[in-house]
Amino acid sequence: MTNLVGVLNDVDGDSGVDIDDTFIPVRSPLMEYTNKVFGHRLPRPFTEHDFVIYGLERIKLLYDAGITREDISTMLQVMESEGALENIMPDNYAVRSLKRLSTRKGKVYFVTSRGNGFYKDAKGMTDRWLVKLVAQHEFMPADTIYNHNKEETLKKLNIARFFEDNPYFAISLLEKGVPVVLFNLPINHMNPHDRDVISEKAYKEKVDLIKRLDSYKGKLLFRVNNWEDVYKHLM
Ligand SMILES: [Mg+2]
Repeated sequence: MTNLVGVLNDVDGDSGVDIDDTFIPVRSPLMEYTNKVFGHRLPRPFTEHDFVIYGLERIKLLYDAGITREDISTMLQVMESEGALENIMPDNYAVRSLKRLSTRKGKVYFVTSRGNGFYKDAKGMTDRWLVKLVAQHEFMPADTIYNHNKEETLKKLNIARFFEDNPYFAISLLEKGVPVVLFNLPINHMNPHDRDVISEKAYKEKVDLIKRLDSYKGKLLFRVNNWEDVYKHLM
């Protein structure tokens, strides 16, 4: 398997699909709510430019303002209570890709870390979203797995490929030999201004992580920009 066509088509098996910022875009609502909830504590608005690392509390603008992981969790629960994530639908290429994979290659599982203590009722929230997904796009995964320890979960399934945006999950999957289709985002590659918006420690960690990640490029790691990229490589 040395290219995207190979990882998508040559192996029969199930597909694992991360939900947030892989299947559906959540960066914008996250930024919107960060500004809505913490705006009064910030010297300027939180923007796309800042959002270069996984873990909002590690972004300079936010931690300089004293915003902690607990604060972020509180913000996520505000989003949950206002239904902010429930109406976000995937683009057509995402749906068409998963439908094709599920009819030709194996089952499609959503695997999400939403249940990892951030929300009050991650399953309820996700179930309501799934009802809308089925109504609008006639697609339902074989199952939805709530587990931040995705790699443990995957051992129990016959996963042939995983679609992800989070570089930390991606590396743990790659190290276990699971092919990863990674959606390019500022959090999973180096950006010229990274040093300006995250701490020196986080920057060094990121450099190391991205280097490790990209050492799998063309072997197990296949980067894409969007689901159209995926769809056009599916046979
Ligand atoms: Mg994600």
